[in-house]
Amino acid sequence: MLPWAVAVHGGAGEVEPERAGAVRRGCEQAAAAARDVLAAGGSALDAVCAAVALLEDDPEFNAGYGAALTRDGTVEVDAAVMVGAGLRAGAVAAAPGLRHPVQLARQVLAAGEHVLLSGPGALAFAREHGIFPEPDGALATEKAWRRLEAWRAGRTAAARAGGGTVGAVALDSASELAAATSTGGTTGKRPGRIGDSPIVGAGTYADEQAGACSATGHGEAILRVLLARDAIDRLRAGASAPEAARAALHELAERTGAQAGLILVDRTGRVGRALNAPHMPFAVARAGQDQIESGLDAA
Ligand code: ASP
Repeated sequence: MLPWAVAVHGGAGEVEPERAGAVRRGCEQAAAAARDVLAAGGSALDAVCAAVALLEDDPEFNAGYGAALTRDGTVEVDAAVMVGAGLRAGAVAAAPGLRHPVQLARQVLAAGEHVLLSGPGALAFAREHGIFPEPDGALATEKAWRRLEAWRAGRTAAARAGGGTVGAVALDSASELAAATSTGGTTGKRPGRIGDSPIVGAGTYADEQAGACSATGHGEAILRVLLARDAIDRLRAGASAPEAARAALHELAERTGAQAGLILVDRTGRVGRALNAPHMPFAVARAGQDQIESGLDAA
C-alpha cells in the first residue's frame, strides 16, 4: 500500500482570535474524516468529498451552512471536484440554497456530460439526483447576516469580503489524486457572481501527472491568474510541493496585488501550503502518522 495523504484548508482571510480554536478543530475533523476513508483504502475523491461535506455543515466556514450572503441576503454556492486521472472534473456555480454543493459537483463529474452547471439548471440536475435546496434562509447564519450588514455599511473592502472557503486535496493508496473546493463566495456579491472555486484551473485542479490543488482568497484575482493550474504546472516542471505553492502565490501577488492562499499535494504525498492573506486554517493527515497536523497559518 502506497502512502496516502490529505490536506484541508478553511479559507484565506481574517480569523478573529475567538474563532481560531473552532476553525482549527473544524479542519482537524475534516482531515480525520478523509483519513478514515484513505486508511480504509478508499479513493482520494471520496476522501476530499467527505472532508468538504463536513466543513459545509460547520457554520464557522463560508460553505453550505454558514455561506456568505449575496447583497440580496440570499445564498448562492460554488463548488468543484476534480480527479487527476483523465482530468475529470465536475462543478456547480451560483447554485441557490445547496447545503452540500460538493455532492452535486461530484454528480456532475460522475455523469461526465458537462464540467460546470450553474443556477437553475444546476438545481434541475440536482433534483434528478435526489439533491434539493434548503428552504429560503435555512443556510444563513447570524454571523453571515452580521457580515452582510457590515458590508452594507461600507465597513468591508471588496477584496476582503471572502474568507472561510473550504477545500481539500488528497493522494490515495492507489496513487490517485483529487481536489475539492466549496464556498458561498464573497459577502455582498451580486447574485449570479461566480468566483474561482468552481472554475477548473482557478480554484481547483488535479492532474495525475503532477498533483492536486485547492485555492482560496480573492476570487476575481485567482480567476485571472488561474492559480491552481499555475501551481500544478510548477510541480510538473520540477518544483517541490512547498516551492510550487509559494511560487504560484508569489506570481498572483505580483500580478494582481491580491490576497490568497492554497494547498496542494504532489504524486508522492508531499504537501505544500502558501498564504499572503492574514490567516488560513489547515489540517494534514498522512499514512503512518497517528497525529493530525493542524494550525492557523499567518502571512
Ligand atoms: N475564493 C472565494 C471566492 O472568491 C472566496 C474565498 O476563498 O474565501 O468566491
